[in-house]
This record gives sequence, C-alpha cells and structure tokens, in this order.
Amino acid sequence: MKKLVLASNNAKKLQELTALLAPLGIEVIPQGELGVPEADEPHPTFIENALAKARHASACTGLPALADDSGLCVAALGGAPGVHSARYAGEPKSDARNNAKLLATLAGQADRRARFVCLLVLMRHAEDPQPILAEGEWHGEILPALRGEGGFGYDPLFLDPASGQTAAELPAELKNQRSHRGQAMQKLLERLRNE
Ligand code: IMP
Repeated sequence: MKKLVLASNNAKKLQELTALLAPLGIEVIPQGELGVPEADEPHPTFIENALAKARHASACTGLPALADDSGLCVAALGGAPGVHSARYAGEPKSDARNNAKLLATLAGQADRRARFVCLLVLMRHAEDPQPILAEGEWHGEILPALRGEGGFGYDPLFLDPASGQTAAELPAELKNQRSHRGQAMQKLLERLRNE
C-alpha cells in the first residue's frame, strides 16, 4: 500500500495519522483534497459509522481508505453521548454547550465513570470483505467542573485516574500515548506491518 485516503477532514487527525504512517512509507491524502463529500453517519455504533465512512471514501476514489469514529461513553447514561458526542447539545456543533449539557445531565449522579472510544477502519478497496479494524478505549471519570485549557471536546471534564490530570491538562504527547485514538492507532500500525 503506497497511499491511502483519510475519510475525515479533521486537520488534527490528519496530522496525527500522517506522522504515524510515515515510517511505513504510506502517503495520507485527506478526502477533501480528492473532492469526496462527507459521508452520512446514521448508525448507532462507532464501528458501523467508521465502516460506512471508509467504504464511501474508497468507493469515491478507488484508493484504500482509513476512517475513524470516536466519542465519549458515560456509564450512568447507558453509553451516551456515544456516537452523538459531537452534536450532543444539537446544532451547530459546540464543545462548550456539549460540556455544559453533560454536567447538567450528571448533576447529583454519584457514578461518574466514562470512557473515550475510537474505532479505526482501513479498507483496502470498497469491496474489501475483511477490513482492518482497531479499537482503543480510555477509561476515566467525569469531573463536576471543567479543568485545563488543552485538547478539545470533552477533554476538560475527563479525568485520567493514572495521572490525576484531565485530558485537557495532559501534555499533547502524553494524551496521544494514552488516548483511545493513540491506542487504536498503535494496534492498526502493528496490523499493517504484517500486511
Ligand atoms: P469525531 O470522531 O471526530 O467526529 O469525534 C466525535 C466527538 O467525540 C468529538 O466531536 C468530541 O466531542 C468527542 N471526542 C472524540 N475524541 C475526543 C478526544 O480525544 N477528546 C475529547 N473529545 C473527544
């Protein structure tokens, strides 16, 4: 595999993935550069949405495609906001409103356990019957107030118990090592080395 299309237009993800895949000599091209429109994400699970995004990008370009779907799952909420994490508080997308809604929803709740989840899917072509799948999970808890300036999304509310810091307080390198996305990427890389 010499190059692949990334089924996302997220600049941060593109940067991370390009760096991770560089040692393998794989060129990563964002789908936007190839004129691929955003795929719908109508499914109730991360894996189904990641599969749909990868298949769409591969079908549109004829290239292998890598997609990621991720979100926050809160134990006391039956896994919500889950696949709806980006738009938990509705349109337009807003991290600040999502965090405020999560705090309000969990007010008075003793069980604060939560996990970030990331599903990566690599399809060698649009009809690939056995795509490469990699899952990462990061377990922590939801604080009663925001802490830290770094990261994005729910990071200021997510306490990493191992360090005692929120994902927004952890230096970016450390977050990338520990995070759901970092773990899923490591698994994908191991799998790709054996391709
Ligand atoms: P997407 O897969 O980029 O659409 O991410 C879905 C949503 O999950 C994001 O908009 C965030 O709200 C949340 N999310 C995913 N990963 C992270 C993370 O590493 N930190 C904080 N929030 C995240």
